[in-house]
Amino acid sequence: MKETTKRAAQCPKCNAVYTAPPAVSREDGYTLICPDCGTREALQSLGIDAAEREEILDIIHRSRSR
Ligand SMILES: [Zn+2]
Repeated sequence: MKETTKRAAQCPKCNAVYTAPPAVSREDGYTLICPDCGTREALQSLGIDAAEREEILDIIHRSRSR
């Protein structure tokens, strides 16, 4: 019997459980966060406001599930 080796991790920023490769938080340079929060931080560093960040994430999610 084969086990899938996908390890789930919990994001300390949004508490989401994710299995995708983690992102490193820009806040401290070593905390592993979920890819969504990694994208959020990157967008925030570009000066994009919260509402627009969520909109962009929504678009990313939609294009992934295709
Ligand atoms: Zn997160």
